[in-house]
Amino acid sequence: MSQSFPTQVPLFIEGQWIASETTQWIPVTDPATQKILTQVPCATAQEMTRAIDSAVSTFETWKDVPVPVRARIMLKYQALLKDHHDELATILAKETGKTFEDAKGDVWRGIEVVEHACNIASLQMGETVENVATDIDCYSYTQPLGVCVGITPFNFPAMIPLWMFPLAIACGNTFILKPSEQDPLTPTRLVELFEEAGAPKGVLQLVHGGKEQVDILLNHPETRAISFVGSTAVGHHIYRTATDNLKRVQCMMGAKNHMVVMPDANKQQVINNLVGAGFGAAGQRCMAISVAVMVGDSKQWIAELKQAASAIRPGAWNDPDAAYGPQINPDARDRVLSFIAQGKKEGANCLLDGSDCVVEGYPDGNWVGPTIFSDVTTEMEIYRNEIFGPVLLIISVDTLEEAMTLINNNPNGNGTSIFTASGYAARKYQHGIQVGQIGINVPVPVPLPFFSFTGWRASFAGDQHAYGKQAVRFYTETKTITARWFEDDHQSDMNMTITLK
Ligand code: NAD
Repeated sequence: MSQSFPTQVPLFIEGQWIASETTQWIPVTDPATQKILTQVPCATAQEMTRAIDSAVSTFETWKDVPVPVRARIMLKYQALLKDHHDELATILAKETGKTFEDAKGDVWRGIEVVEHACNIASLQMGETVENVATDIDCYSYTQPLGVCVGITPFNFPAMIPLWMFPLAIACGNTFILKPSEQDPLTPTRLVELFEEAGAPKGVLQLVHGGKEQVDILLNHPETRAISFVGSTAVGHHIYRTATDNLKRVQCMMGAKNHMVVMPDANKQQVINNLVGAGFGAAGQRCMAISVAVMVGDSKQWIAELKQAASAIRPGAWNDPDAAYGPQINPDARDRVLSFIAQGKKEGANCLLDGSDCVVEGYPDGNWVGPTIFSDVTTEMEIYRNEIFGPVLLIISVDTLEEAMTLINNNPNGNGTSIFTASGYAARKYQHGIQVGQIGINVPVPVPLPFFSFTGWRASFAGDQHAYGKQAVRFYTETKTITARWFEDDHQSDMNMTITLK
């Protein structure tokens, strides 16, 4: 596949691209036009079982492939992804509606994780201690688990699958990817390139569908670890079902991210960054800033913020003047519009209303214009829910302490940022805020892959987070060896205790 899309998306099972025999197909539409780009299958139960069986049997050989060989596949994959960067971004932009520039960012942030996976030998190292008792040494290895599963959302169809399968496979696992049914073409291309990079048959399987297919993966006795990124309600179902089946699970879920604006911050930086982080990707980022908390006199900048937001507009993926694209589907657009109506009803001040957004030449697109509400309170539904659209809420408070209490009382803890010129305020914020990823004068603090993606509280369920060292722990099991070698004529007494002697 390159730029002309297949009429039906194939499955990738046992190292073969196969046409599904299902009777259930989901249309994949261009969100700017509603034109059907392709159809994605809901894999049959038999196809799901074949994928799992193939991952199980391939694990038996893949787990013993030497670590430099696994690393070299990642090196080749990284180079191929870079060679095909713009092609991937074009596919991604066409099926998500993201602007081309934003689509390139989605691909690039995934490539960075593959780059990190190239270091798997040092990432997977165990530990050693010599002489834990006389002539006894102790050392550990980290070994792969078996079949790992990834269930991914629509909003980053390159980056989020790449958070998962390269690292899991580099660790020696086999992997089953079930990407979003709304944009399966980008993951398909990612898998084609992985095959081209020399990944052995059966190491990676690509299946499609929704709840039914996911439930098969969650309930199968041979799947060992489940990585999920998506909405909170679905994440809860996945966490509960998979842990009930005694599987290892990590769920990265919904968010409501606040930016604290201190009055000593640089005004222009604040305005530019709020517009970018609030409306970029049509607000369809789990790390989007959806609430600006204006401290003290910074509220005087609201009028200029409104002016800056009024100057941007959504548009088609290849429109160089578009600031962002459409919502992913008409239901998502209607949901955002109903929150805008709700905000007006519950008494927030709608400073900028993007409800009636029209984009010339695209009458059927899922457009929502930039929208700003001020005078928002924490009881309002627009504050209590993740809107996932280009809607920025503004709350004004008097002090940093008040801002911190407000944010710590919000159940979510994915990301936050503070804009300030004060090191003291920034230090106080980073120490006291109950959110897992903090930007200081950085609006969308998604960590680079040598760290991990550390959302907290309602935004995360599990123990080890996505990518980085934590993901290596998530995808491996530690084996600890305590070893002694006797001299030929060694004599020792019987030891009736558990003390090492
Ligand atoms: P979604 O929960 O609707 O779908 C995610 C995945 O789950 C898809 O593959 C989908 O097919 C599958 N799925 C849907 N319903 C299911 C069910 N009932 N049972 C089992 N599987 C099911 O999410 P989405 O709309 O694709 O993505 C947007 C959401 O993802 C937002 O809430 C956003 O905040 C969140 N997100 C979170 C992060 C993070 O790292 N915390 C990152 C990106 C997106």
